[in-house]
Amino acid sequence: MYQRKPEWLKIKTIGGKNRTQVEKLLANLSLHTVCKEAACPNIMECFSRKTATFMILGNHCTRNCTFCNVEKGTAMDIDREEPEKIAEAAGTLGLKHVVITSVTRDDLPDGGAGHFASVIEKVRSSCEGITIEVLIPDFKGDEAALGTVVSAAPDIINHNIETVHILYPEVRPQADYSRSLRLLRNVKEKDSRIYTKSGIMVGLGEKPEEVTGVFRDLREYGCDILTIGQYIAPSLKHYPVVEFITPEMFEKYKASAYRLGFSHVTSGPLVRSSYHADNALDSLIDR
Ligand code: SF4
Ligand code: SF4
Repeated sequence: MYQRKPEWLKIKTIGGKNRTQVEKLLANLSLHTVCKEAACPNIMECFSRKTATFMILGNHCTRNCTFCNVEKGTAMDIDREEPEKIAEAAGTLGLKHVVITSVTRDDLPDGGAGHFASVIEKVRSSCEGITIEVLIPDFKGDEAALGTVVSAAPDIINHNIETVHILYPEVRPQADYSRSLRLLRNVKEKDSRIYTKSGIMVGLGEKPEEVTGVFRDLREYGCDILTIGQYIAPSLKHYPVVEFITPEMFEKYKASAYRLGFSHVTSGPLVRSSYHADNALDSLIDR
């Protein structure tokens, strides 16, 4: 059933030459962004700030999460020039912090981990001083694949837990709550210098105590950085929004996450895992 969005989710139109420049650059380099593919509500704001989250390994996903707007189905060939193109885009936009994610590629023997590593290495060697955050799939629990990404030494490895344990079968049918937690712990075991990050959407029918239970689990598995945002259904065919969480409740979630020991928490109705992602590392480095 369609639910009218509350005031706090209304988005102002933002145009301007920055946004046009970002759109042209992405089109010229044939790069995908999760901003566009996932129909992120912040796209006008982020493109106007000259930031974007690059999506590598194509724009068709081999999984079928019921909340997600990314196209499902036939996987695509890997663009071998993608590392150079992303380095060029990051350089042209003058990014100080780049966020790179991907579709899930369960069809590839390494799940695309080698390509992630190539992108990380190329961006680092081309863009002096840049910090790199990757938002990775679970690689079906393949530790060697995770090791390939960890060895490329990004500054932050993000893996979204997305929702509470009980909703996994309906929301992330091919994922596994415990496997996602273990991935975060494995990153720290392989290289404790890498910050780990995760994110959860609320408003899918979860209870507040289940949400704080996820926070506790994430902390137990060593997660440093957390994002909390409202789920917005991309269409009537997607998983429905069960509840619009109030801004006050987001503040309460934020406070309880800090109490549990996260180093940086971003919480709010329009927060997405890459929203103002540069702030987390800035605040951790400033400590
Ligand atoms: Fe893109 Fe992230 Fe901004 Fe959304 S919040 S538009 S995904 S950079
Ligand atoms: Fe979307 Fe990621 Fe799920 Fe694929 S694995 S459908 S990209 S959320």
